[in-house]
Amino acid sequence: MYKRILLKLSGESLMGEQQYGIDENRLAAYARQIKDIAALGVEIGIVIGGGNIFRGLSGAGKGFDRVKGDQMGMLATTINALALSSALSSAGQKARVLTAVNMFPIGEQYSKWKAIEAMQNGEIAILAGGTGCPYFTTDTGSALRGIEIEADVMLKGTRVDGIYTADPEKDPNAKKFDRITYDEIYDRGLKIMDLTATTLCRDNHLPIIVFNMDKEGNLLKLITGENIGTLVYEK
Ligand code: UDP
Repeated sequence: MYKRILLKLSGESLMGEQQYGIDENRLAAYARQIKDIAALGVEIGIVIGGGNIFRGLSGAGKGFDRVKGDQMGMLATTINALALSSALSSAGQKARVLTAVNMFPIGEQYSKWKAIEAMQNGEIAILAGGTGCPYFTTDTGSALRGIEIEADVMLKGTRVDGIYTADPEKDPNAKKFDRITYDEIYDRGLKIMDLTATTLCRDNHLPIIVFNMDKEGNLLKLITGENIGTLVYEK
């Protein structure tokens, strides 16, 4: 069983069936799954995206300044982080929001040691604001935080079961990988995460598991050693 994990949740998945914002039922379902693995003693850091509210790149397409747009995106991740921490506390699970840039008292400013201290106290460390820098994504933020907090693995929760040869939502012949190397991801041009995030994981030996977080119970299955999702490994 993993001792410490970094869980990445996309902002988009928080929309559930909606077109925008946060679906409280989806949020509550995530909180239940997270609480269930915390009960096993796993130390959990979470990075959450903001695509359900704002993305800098699409803002730039509509005339926003890119840096300001990215800052809006980072604020969006913080909104989601607060929503998740609230859902976790409603479920009876302690959590602490740590922000990449100083936003006190919305959260405390992130440091590796504060995150580790929170996790060792049995709190979920929700790491908001991505990397704190524009031109990055929360996938890169989660790779960075995963490495910093010395996580055993980065779990990337998505709405598909793992990594496929092609987009399974578009191509019925797409085949799922049980395991794949980082290099194969580059060679096949698979778009699982941006290359900055993939490279950061590869160079720092952080394995990734891509799995379907929307199936309730999947997170617990993964933690208890069931072979679900796709493992990305070195060689
Ligand atoms: N963002 C950023 N720097 C970071 C992380 C995120 O500027 O380190 C901004 C960026 O504009 C991005 C937005 O925040 O589009 C939301 O994050 P992301 O698109 O990764 O969210 P997700 O796709 O996971 O919902």
